[in-house]
Parts: sequence; structure tokens; C-alpha cells
Amino acid sequence: MSGAAPQREALIDLDAFRHNVRTLAAIARPAETMLAVKADAYGHGMVPLARAALEAGASSLAVLDIPAALALREAGITAPIFAWMHDPDALFGAAAEADIDLGVSAVWQLDAIAAAAASRAPRVHLKIDTGLSRNGATEADWPTLVTAALQHDRAGAVRLHAAWSHLADASPADDALALARLRTAVQIAEGLGARFERLHLAASSAGIREPEARLDLVRFGIAAYGISPFDDQTGRELGLRGVMTLRAPVVSTKRVGAGQGISYGLTYRTERETTLALVPLGYADGVPRIASGAGEVWIAGRRHPIAGRIAMDQFVVDIGDDPVEAGEEVVVFGPGDRGEPTAEEWAGYAGTIGDEIVARVGARVQRVYLGEQAVR
Ligand SMILES: *Cc1c(COP(=O)(O)O)cnc(C)c1O
Repeated sequence: MSGAAPQREALIDLDAFRHNVRTLAAIARPAETMLAVKADAYGHGMVPLARAALEAGASSLAVLDIPAALALREAGITAPIFAWMHDPDALFGAAAEADIDLGVSAVWQLDAIAAAAASRAPRVHLKIDTGLSRNGATEADWPTLVTAALQHDRAGAVRLHAAWSHLADASPADDALALARLRTAVQIAEGLGARFERLHLAASSAGIREPEARLDLVRFGIAAYGISPFDDQTGRELGLRGVMTLRAPVVSTKRVGAGQGISYGLTYRTERETTLALVPLGYADGVPRIASGAGEVWIAGRRHPIAGRIAMDQFVVDIGDDPVEAGEEVVVFGPGDRGEPTAEEWAGYAGTIGDEIVARVGARVQRVYLGEQAVR
């Protein structure tokens, strides 16, 4: 294509993703697997990843909010979809009509669902705050939330389905305390007459390492994208495969002498005559600027350090005397099979977690899917 922008690509390996989902579902069984495809499937693209998750054995999907859930329905996905963050203007009526499972943390949400007077009653999952201090009813507010849910259930406005919470991943002891708090909340609710078909608490971390937290279903996210939720084990060591490869072609090269300053601030100077390769990816594409001076990329069969600051749209690589020309593939991160850095390594360069590395890959990076199955 003449005149096309440089191909900034995120290759998304759906076979690797399905392998991960199958691996995690097997770990969780007999608990069910709900797969989190929030934040555009952690930057991978919501609809294709949602389909692949269901193909690989997930029984339901999790997104943050109702608009994302409705987008999955519009894409033809009929599996249960769970959404749990709602502001007062949330489209509760549309969610109910589309049979979206709603996480509910407050009485006003139940009242708003009832006021929407949809033709069908949505399933609701009541959330108790077990220590993370985000949403979820406090212990003090829990009995009131349960009582309101029972009233709306009897009136036919909602179907009380589950009780749930989310862990702080601080320590096994904190998680055990959270589990105990969830169990206490369930007992209190049962004392008020509630019956729950499902209890859920664990995400990737506890889903893998804390069998007692798996309950009826595990909401797996990051591990399915091949990134470890742990500091002491990589995704590969967990038997998972990297899903995203961020890459672009070298757009130009030039030969420069010793002492040449590179990029804003001239924080890097060449030590000797060398070749510089310009790569059309920057922090607008999700390559973290804070990794300037630390990040490495894969070019022509080996790793090379990024030279100087990562800019909005580009960075420079000092490739020495390697015979690299415009058009050569540059891999920022990938599964690591060829020796390229992984998203987990990039998290290390940037002082963050792999989740942020993949979720921040920008909109102008084209997602290209490998292993897509025929449309069913
Ligand atoms: C993001 C999220 C998950 C998945 O978490 P991971 O750590 O990515 O597995 C599960 N449940 C809730 C409520 C979430 O917000």
C-alpha cells in the first residue's frame, strides 16, 4: 500500500490465548472459568479474544461496564457476560434486555435496575467489600443491600444469583481473611433468606495458587494473556504462552560517527562509529518513556538497547555494525520464543506490571490476529 503509515502491529496469537484459557480452566476445575476481557481484552481486542475464550472452555465473560457488555452482545456473543462498574447514568434497562449479569454494590443500583422496568429481570451478583476498598458493600451496609435485593427479586425486577468479592493480592493471609469475610457475608445473607447459585472471589493469582479461593468460579484475566500475576514466576514457568507481539519495521538507518547525541535531551552518545535504526513506535503506542535507557528490542536475531529517550512516536536503536536496513522487523516484546524480550521484561524496564504494558498499547497499533477460527 503506497502512502500507508508504517505497520505498527500487535500480533495477537489466538492459539496461544486458547492454550492459556484451557490451561487455566483445567487448574480451576471443578470451578468454572469466567474470562476477563475488560479494557479491550487488556489491549488485545475484546471481541476476538472473547470468542477465543469461549472456544477454549471459558463459560462466561467479564467486562467492566454495560457498554462493553452490549458491544459483545452486538457481536453475537450469547454466553453469560458480567459487568460490575456502574455510574448513576448506567444503561440498566438495556443491560437487562440484553441479559447482562450485573455486579451490584449499592441499593441505588438495585432501585435503578427496577426503575428501568425492562421486560426481563437481570441476574445480579451482590458484591461485598472484603478489604480492597474499591466497590462492594461495606460489612455495615451488606444486610441492607441483601434485604433490598430480596425485595426486588420477589417483585420480579432482578434475579438474585451470586455473592462475590475481589482480592487485594497483598498476601495469602490477606486473601484468607477476605475469603473468611465473604463466607461470613454469605451466612448473614442466608440468615436473611438469600440463596446464592454462585460464589466467586479469585482472579488469576488466587485462582492459580489458592485452591480454597476458587469457590464456584474463577475470574481469570492477566494469566490468560500469558503474563504471570506473580513476581516469583514467569508466565512461561506457569506453562502459559505470550499472546501479544508488539512490532514495527525499521523506517530508516544511518551511519554516524563517535560522540553523536541521540534523541531528546541527548542523554545517549555513540561510543564509536555505528549504525542507528529509527523505529516508529513511541509512548503514544504504549512503549513507556520511563524505560528509556533500560529497554531492549529484538532486531536481526538479537537484542539491542534503545538509545536515548523514547519519544511520542519513535525511538532509536544503536545497532553497531549489524547489517540492518529499513524494513527490518523490530520486536519490542513477544512470547520470548526467539529470545525477544517479553511483556514481563518490559514491565521490569518500566517499573510496572505486564498488565500495564499490554493494556497501554495504543489505538494506532493495528491488532493482527493469528489463529482465528472460521466464523461459526
Ligand atoms: C480485572 C479483574 C479480574 C481479573 O484479574 P486478573 O488479575 O487480571 O486475573 C477479575 N475480577 C475483577 C473484578 C477484575 O477487575
